[in-house]
Amino acid sequence: MPIDATQPYDADNIFAKILRGEIPCKQVYRDEWSLAFHDINPQAPTHILVIPTGAYVSWDDFSARGHVARDAGLVAPGYRLLANIGQHGHQEVPHLHVHLFGGRQMGQMLPR
Ligand code: 5GP
Repeated sequence: MPIDATQPYDADNIFAKILRGEIPCKQVYRDEWSLAFHDINPQAPTHILVIPTGAYVSWDDFSARGHVARDAGLVAPGYRLLANIGQHGHQEVPHLHVHLFGGRQMGQMLPR
């Protein structure tokens, strides 16, 4: 179910538990500012979630309260970044995150 992205941060959300090590993940990268890990239900050969270690619900929340995050490097064949926000964006986990899809041709941006 999509969440209401205007609600305060819920420290019991699934990604908060992953950050605290209470739930395991297949980690790709971690530093002081960010964690990248494989999505449990991949939608492409490569489907990685990139999240800040800070407690932000959405990009608006991050913009209002956040600090500058470090950039990740780009790769040659290309990839897709996608962020779901709130009800219409169908965001299910109330911790700011970006989906990184790769490993196949992604086609058009949205199904018609
Ligand atoms: P959203 O709809 O919020 O943009 O995406 C949430 C994503 O989190 C979904 O793609 C879902 O598969 C993934 N996800 C939910 N629970 C877990 C989990 O426990 N572990 C991992 N690795 N991914 C999860």
